[in-house]
Amino acid sequence: MAIFPCSFRTHRYRGKAAHAYPALIRPSGREDRRHSRLCAAHMAELEELAGPYLAADAAGEVEPSPRATLCMGCSRFVDEVFTQFFMTTFPGGDERRDYWGILHPACRAPAWLEGLLGVSPSARPGDGVGHLPQEST
Ligand SMILES: [Zn+2]
Ligand SMILES: [Zn+2]
Repeated sequence: MAIFPCSFRTHRYRGKAAHAYPALIRPSGREDRRHSRLCAAHMAELEELAGPYLAADAAGEVEPSPRATLCMGCSRFVDEVFTQFFMTTFPGGDERRDYWGILHPACRAPAWLEGLLGVSPSARPGDGVGHLPQEST
């Protein structure tokens, strides 16, 4: 049986991987996306952390938590320009869950999400806003 590295807390485990596809899409157009393979225990932890942002499960759309309409970083109201968080998970194989959230472009994502995306914790707030990757000429 294969031994997988878990994307959430970086340890190795045996058994079936659960899959998560998190993404942050910034107003600048910059996108951070990952395919994360998690052990069952850490998928359960992730589902709990992302719980307020659950938008649809196998049964269809779910009633959004009031928190889902506020910034994931600072919990304040977000006006028209925002960074979007999308995540699809397959916690137990086939059953799919979709998550959605918003952030102020200058706000940091929660630590669990930055960790999952591999976004540098030392990145300054606002990194990526209005800075598309430069093409060398
Ligand atoms: Zn794990
Ligand atoms: Zn904010």
